[in-house]
Amino acid sequence: MSAPGERTEEEATAALEEREWQPRTRVGRMVKEGRIKSIDEIFRRNLPLLEPEIVDYLLPDLKHEVIDTTIVQKMTDAGRITRFRVVVVVGNMDGYVGLGKGKARQYRFAVEKALRNAKLNIVPVRRGCGSWECTCGEAHSVPFTVRGKSGSVEVILKPAPKGTGLVAGDVAKVVLRYAGISDVWSFTKGETRTSYNFARATYLALRNTYRFVTPMDWGRLVLPRRS
Ligand SMILES: [Zn+2]
Repeated sequence: MSAPGERTEEEATAALEEREWQPRTRVGRMVKEGRIKSIDEIFRRNLPLLEPEIVDYLLPDLKHEVIDTTIVQKMTDAGRITRFRVVVVVGNMDGYVGLGKGKARQYRFAVEKALRNAKLNIVPVRRGCGSWECTCGEAHSVPFTVRGKSGSVEVILKPAPKGTGLVAGDVAKVVLRYAGISDVWSFTKGETRTSYNFARATYLALRNTYRFVTPMDWGRLVLPRRS
């Protein structure tokens, strides 16, 4: 309970959000001053992305979704403490995806923390046609087979022809959709009931689409546009 005239935690947070972004890093300042104009530039130049506001600035059409919520209860001297653990996926549905986890006593703050972490974890996803059964040449699938592993879960993504859809579990489907992949075959090993590991293995597989590229390729690569 707050005394009259005193601001609640929510109000204080809202006030903070309204305040203009004051960058704390060199890259943040460059973004705010307009010297970095696209998110591609951050990745092409291998610059550190340490402020979520950089992503807000460069990808204003970013969307997010809570993919898992767990209520964690703990007994302490003061009694039972309930905390929310939330997993959030972010993406522009067009080649950029991020995943983050957040924990707090209030659901809203857990979501905010997870969202912040997801933005800091955003990565470009290399897309392609990739399937010899399909010769459309459009960027609708993964360009080649990629793998990702988190905890006991391993996800393998294979290029699929146009019209296949996302042949994957529900959690993986959300991550793939946020990345802008519309056709893929997936194979999963391990305990996929753990949503976080399932989502993270999918995210890591997508991140690996750029792992097999040598630095020399960077100049020639067509990165996803900000649209
Ligand atoms: Zn195709």
